[in-house]
Amino acid sequence: MVDALLLDLSGVLYDGDEVVPGAREAVRRVQASGLPVRFITNTSRKTRSRLLAQLGQLGFHVEDEQLFTAVDAARQWLRQRSLRPFCLVHRDIVGEFDEFEQNDPDAVLIADAAEDFNYRNLNRAFQLCLAGAPLLGVGYNRYFKSGDQMLMDVGAFIRAIEFAAGVEATIVGKPGTEFFNQVIASTTAAPARALMVGDDVFGDVEGALEAGIPACLVRTGKYRAGDEERVAGDFQVVDSVVEAVELALA
Ligand SMILES: [Mg+2]
Repeated sequence: MVDALLLDLSGVLYDGDEVVPGAREAVRRVQASGLPVRFITNTSRKTRSRLLAQLGQLGFHVEDEQLFTAVDAARQWLRQRSLRPFCLVHRDIVGEFDEFEQNDPDAVLIADAAEDFNYRNLNRAFQLCLAGAPLLGVGYNRYFKSGDQMLMDVGAFIRAIEFAAGVEATIVGKPGTEFFNQVIASTTAAPARALMVGDDVFGDVEGALEAGIPACLVRTGKYRAGDEERVAGDFQVVDSVVEAVELALA
């Protein structure tokens, strides 16, 4: 049995509005066992409170302190440095950054802005970074799955600004080691005694391995045949979170 279980949300517990078969029961099983469980996501199209409400509606009981989001990590990073961010984020989460002065920005934050990834906004981000503003990104996620479609995620937009301005982003969410460290620090587990479960072989699996956390790739969500070949290192591959939970509790 592991000492802590880290679960990605989208693609592991649910896929769009559909709960992964057996996922609810599997999560309940873990919670009943007393094993510390943390939910860890780069999702940045919803506020934290909406995410918690959605999890509840889907039948997952997640405590506020068990949920770790890249958006929270971004806010914390900006707060610690007293920065004035230009927030290129989804319009639904603009309010999550109300605490920051955003006139005359001296930092750039890029999350999944969806339709707001237009030339005007990207060029503003580029100009600020070229002038020396630090670039902050939620994650290098390539794509995500929503219903039956793959959708382009934030990673390529962060890469575009890096490329144009000749800078390197600080990644506050997965696969950033600091994010995994933060989550592990909220438990009493050593990294090597935890297990990260995700459907993203780069963000979830490779990121966890780099942080010294064993990982398990599930064949649900955005998983595509052959994904396990795309990343070096030892990790498990299972059909779904149901088997991952069995591994964690075994
Ligand atoms: Mg996922």
